[in-house]
Amino acid sequence: MNDEDFMQQAIAQANMALAVGEVPVGAVLVRDGVVIAQAHNAPIAQHDPSAHAEMQVIRQAAAAIGNYRLDGCTLYVTLEPCTMCAGAILNARLSKVVWGAAEPKTGACGSVMDVFAQPQLNHHTSSQGHVLAEECALPLQTFFKQQRHAQKTKAAATRLRDDAVRAPDSAFNNLPGYPWQPNYISDLPSLNGLRMHYLDEGPVDADVTWLCLHGNPAWSYLYRQMIPVFVSAGHRVIAPDMPGFGKSDKPKKDSAHTFEWHRNVLLEFVEALDLRGIQLVVQDWGGILGLTLPMAQPWRYESLLVMNTTLATGEQPLSDGFNAWKKMCADKPLFDVGKLFARGNPQMSADECAAYNAPFPDAGHRAALRAFPPMVPSGVDSPGAAVSRDAARFLKHDWQGQSVMFIGQQDPVLGETVMRELQKNIRHCPEPVLLPQAGHFVQEHGRVIALQAERTFFNSNPAGAMP
Ligand SMILES: [Zn+2]
Repeated sequence: MNDEDFMQQAIAQANMALAVGEVPVGAVLVRDGVVIAQAHNAPIAQHDPSAHAEMQVIRQAAAAIGNYRLDGCTLYVTLEPCTMCAGAILNARLSKVVWGAAEPKTGACGSVMDVFAQPQLNHHTSSQGHVLAEECALPLQTFFKQQRHAQKTKAAATRLRDDAVRAPDSAFNNLPGYPWQPNYISDLPSLNGLRMHYLDEGPVDADVTWLCLHGNPAWSYLYRQMIPVFVSAGHRVIAPDMPGFGKSDKPKKDSAHTFEWHRNVLLEFVEALDLRGIQLVVQDWGGILGLTLPMAQPWRYESLLVMNTTLATGEQPLSDGFNAWKKMCADKPLFDVGKLFARGNPQMSADECAAYNAPFPDAGHRAALRAFPPMVPSGVDSPGAAVSRDAARFLKHDWQGQSVMFIGQQDPVLGETVMRELQKNIRHCPEPVLLPQAGHFVQEHGRVIALQAERTFFNSNPAGAMP
């Protein structure tokens, strides 16, 4: 019997865990070429957070041989041990631990830290990883895929709240350039049962996540040109529809929409999905809200891709262009959203413009469209202004990440003047890239923007190489 043979037995244990709904990790403990204990993860069944496969086999083996020290034994486990198990392995004085798949988030044998490489701690145990790594990862991949599917099914079945409306799925059939499967979440505290839609493309375990936030009156459709660029770079893309927009549920009342509520939804969303390595992509309200997020959990955010938006600190008067937009929304509450896009984007097809009307089949769905323009903080005491000032201070003095800025110059609302003010408030933000042909909805020219941002953040091109 060699290492791979023993690892196969550990994999068999992992598959048993899979069958009973535990995170599928299996382990065997070997002495003198003989398996003296085998077990799998059982924290759920045993109501015991320490019931990891490694702990189980160590307990079994120590009981079997009547000694708390397991000198000369080798432990095989399908997943890189955590700090708890690494500690137990050292305490048991095992000679060797052989593990399979790496665990990038909690692994204590080199991924997050390497407990066995600490000479102050370890005099006994050697660690060897990546043995049958792909086979060991398979039950885990199956498990998490099943879990995601179960969550989706559950979320898809979420009952519609009485005070909300939901556009029918048929409204979104065959939209051009939007082939992606829906994902739903409804268990965020702030959603209180509302169903929120988001796109989740690319590998879930990617190191890099582009979090793309839309504004009013758009939805995740706005990012259809950028998503394929990020996904083909091997990255993950998350693009939520804010409540009231896109495929998300829409509160009936305008008053449901507040700055603070939407900000909390986004904060909870990022935390629930445990997004890290975030490249934050913002425009319009996506930035008014989104740029206030990194200060809350800076370690999650790596870079900013900023398009026509602002931090509404209430210190500067809102632009004439913005006030004109606000007045138009108040005067013509049933304005045609598709036509708004068509006006600034002659390159868009009629079907693409119509896709922006899909979320709003009638006036009952338009509460957010009515609520958002007056919600932009206009004075220093407006709701949201103080948190926006905090965000401006954070981005100006404490922001550690990279930034790129793209300005659609045809935008009368949040165009170059507003954006140059914002640039001053983002630490180390380079000279903006000007897009003379682009209007407010800069993402409609998103392919070239995505390519350039991806190149800037990840191919270590110096900022000076940007055109
Ligand atoms: Zn463990």
